[in-house]
Amino acid sequence: MERKPGRPKGSKTESLPTARTFPEGCPECGSTDREPLGAVITNDFNGEHDGRPYTSFSKGRTQCRNCGRCYFFTTYDFDPNKWENAARDEADREERERRERAKIISQQNASRKHGND
Ligand SMILES: [Zn+2]
Repeated sequence: MERKPGRPKGSKTESLPTARTFPEGCPECGSTDREPLGAVITNDFNGEHDGRPYTSFSKGRTQCRNCGRCYFFTTYDFDPNKWENAARDEADREERERRERAKIISQQNASRKHGND
């Protein structure tokens, strides 16, 4: 079996943590030990927060286990597969639009040439 040098195994998908929560800790005491309170609402949405891409985000309420302070938090989740699919869809869409524009331009050119004859 041939061994390929270079890229370490799994470097593509393991370089980023998949989920990050803001605030990272309790606004009162800074503790990250928290108890979820009530429902967490998750939205599928591709975007960027704090310089990192995300593919969904969840909002909910939580209570600090250290000091008892209740606060809202947002967790940004990153799924590389979802991100790549979205990027591919976007590229497909741009390619279709580009082809559509090229077609319109060539049609306009054709009819212009025709008119000048
Ligand atoms: Zn606290």
